[in-house]
Amino acid sequence: MSQPTNSPSPQATLPRSQAEIAARVKALESIMIDKGLMTTEAVDRFAEIYENEVGPQLGAGVVAKAWTDPEFKKRLLEDATKACAELGIGGLQGEDMVVVENTDTVHNAIVCTLCSCYPWPTLGLPPNWYKQPAYRSRMVREPRKVLREDFGYDIPDSVEIRIWDSSSEMRYWVLPKRPEGTDGMSEKELAALVTRDSMIGVGPTRRP
Ligand code: FE
Repeated sequence: MSQPTNSPSPQATLPRSQAEIAARVKALESIMIDKGLMTTEAVDRFAEIYENEVGPQLGAGVVAKAWTDPEFKKRLLEDATKACAELGIGGLQGEDMVVVENTDTVHNAIVCTLCSCYPWPTLGLPPNWYKQPAYRSRMVREPRKVLREDFGYDIPDSVEIRIWDSSSEMRYWVLPKRPEGTDGMSEKELAALVTRDSMIGVGPTRRP
């Protein structure tokens, strides 16, 4: 007995459940392993790298270095990919990174309106909300409101907000302002003040 194939099942239009997506991923993974395109070890290693090794702590280190080394900061703003490579940071989804600097008059934040492009080498994998249509569409239209309502982060009206739309070609991230009262702190101490959200532009750095 065969099913008619010319009419789409009504379920085809429903959003896919997490379980369904997971099942598809698993199926793809086993086909690729069967065909010898990939190994289980490689998949495990890849997951391990992005779960435990690559993350915002790397970006925080870059920011702390930029706060303490003006020459490095200059290189970072000129070519973030190259400057990060000096510290051994780079790789997948970070081939073309651009760092934008927050100042007393300009606040930057990043978004990917199309999907979820994000600088993996310095920030790790994107948080869930970054991938949601609500953030992606509203952040470009009403950033001040989104920052206040969704993140509890107030940007004074006197400060201009600039939104940077990342793509597969260009991945932006933010160099936050060095917090007040941090004179004489070491790079390591400074790095501990840098939050992931401050490098996305949706939250402050920690207070010393
Ligand atoms: Fe994207």
